[in-house]
Amino acid sequence: MSDTKSSPAETAREVFRQLALQRKPPTPENYSRVYAQQAGLTFAEVQPAAAALESLARSLVTESPTADYAKPLREALESGHWNTVNRIIKSALTRAQAPRTAPQVPTAAPAHAATAADSRDAARALKDLIGKTIAFLVDERLGYTAEVVREVAVLVEAVSHAMSPAEIDQSAARLRHFWLKLELRGEGPEPMLRGLHDLVRLMVHNMGDLVVDDQWVKGQADRIRGLLDAPLSAKSLEETQRSYKEFVFRQGTLKHTLDEAAQAVRNLTATLIDRMGSISESTGQFSSTISRYSEQIRSADGLPALSGLLERLLSDTKSMHLEMSATHEELSASRDKVIQYEARVRTLQAELAQMSEMIREDPLTQSLNRRGLEQQFSIEQARADRKRSPLCLAVLDIDNFKHLNDRLGHSAGDDALKHLAKVVRETLRPSDSLARYGGEEFVILLPDTTPEDGEKVMIRVQRELTRRFFMHNNERVLITFSAGLAVRHPDEPQEQLIERADRAMYEAKRAGKNRVQRAPEDMG
Ligand code: GH3
Ligand code: MG
Ligand code: MG
Repeated sequence: MSDTKSSPAETAREVFRQLALQRKPPTPENYSRVYAQQAGLTFAEVQPAAAALESLARSLVTESPTADYAKPLREALESGHWNTVNRIIKSALTRAQAPRTAPQVPTAAPAHAATAADSRDAARALKDLIGKTIAFLVDERLGYTAEVVREVAVLVEAVSHAMSPAEIDQSAARLRHFWLKLELRGEGPEPMLRGLHDLVRLMVHNMGDLVVDDQWVKGQADRIRGLLDAPLSAKSLEETQRSYKEFVFRQGTLKHTLDEAAQAVRNLTATLIDRMGSISESTGQFSSTISRYSEQIRSADGLPALSGLLERLLSDTKSMHLEMSATHEELSASRDKVIQYEARVRTLQAELAQMSEMIREDPLTQSLNRRGLEQQFSIEQARADRKRSPLCLAVLDIDNFKHLNDRLGHSAGDDALKHLAKVVRETLRPSDSLARYGGEEFVILLPDTTPEDGEKVMIRVQRELTRRFFMHNNERVLITFSAGLAVRHPDEPQEQLIERADRAMYEAKRAGKNRVQRAPEDMG
């Protein structure tokens, strides 16, 4: 495009349009370059174009000193804010083209000369510029909020398609609403940065505390904390990041070492436990303690936890060992004692058995006991058989002995038993035998005695008893008895003979006590 006939103002307007289309900032240098293209000149030839831009802006200020853009435009020129200069000129030009805002356009502005097509192009470029600016702003500053980014995309779409002034107004309203909403959300990089900053400070603080042993890591953590305490700046953040990276690296190395150490301790402990477990498989309690430790060691994380466990385990096993050996000693001592006692008991039992074999006497009455009676009976029966002499047997039961016991006491009863036995013995012949058969029951063996003689003997004993009173506390106590008498039949066993005599004794009781009764089979 090289329309040399165009007026400088028209060329200037076209230059603005091109700048917008090419998305170049409207610095005097860019302006000159585009102007050179528009005017078909070299860059060197149009150096004054920069001055032309400036003079265009200044002319806008001087020609319309009351216009609302006059003051900001002058200030922007003074401070060299070319973006602002650009924005104000564009706005002035756009308004100059809009029919409704025409009166505001400076008379020197070349708007009236622009074609409709040109103004549509300019408007599109401008809308595009605005849209891109908004999108860029949001992307850069609020890109972390997906919702906001989506909302902005919709807005930009609306702005770039706004054709009519009504649509532009509507877009402007939506834009205002959007900025207001953002303002209300308080969302912006500042609070975000502060939040991140605090978070990092907290992490560093905790990490420093975690590693108690490593001085380097601790120092590094302190340094990072110091950096974070200083006011926020790009430089301090960069330094923090560098330190933090070193810190993380060292932490990783340390963690690895710690993990290795922990694994070593874990293996060592496991071996230890295995060995101890196999040593003491038989000890139930110990085994369960060991398996509890095994479980804890498997789930323990970190060296401090493991070494704590190991310490407890060692002290436990030490005490368990002591306990075990103590228990072992106790047990073997007890076992030895038990063995001794058992041996002693066996000996005593054997002795007792032997003694009881030997004991033939009732200790209270000094008469024969059952065993003694048996032995004596077998001797007498053999002799009787040999001599073909009669063998008599009497069963004697004290009358109302319970009553005597009740009245005088058990001890008096015992004395009465002794007294009776004594009297009986002293009344019988030496070849006769007296045996205590039960509580107050006696059996008397009368060898070489017929039943009739036997009856006489028993009656003599009766008489003798009534003569020789049993004395208790100076009280004369009469003891009587009932007796049954039987003579041994040929080959009659002891039990049967006793049974017959016993039946006779009961007959005597039934007949009124204090009497002697012969077995009916022997009579007649
Ligand atoms: P019965 O005339 O019918 O024989 O009457 P009983 O009271 O003699 O007969 P019973 O069999 O009812 O009681 C016997 C009592 O003899 C019971 C028991 O207390 C007593 N007795 C048995 N043995 C002994 C002993 O060794 N010493 C003493 N003191 N009493 C004994
Ligand atoms: Mg009795
Ligand atoms: Mg009795």
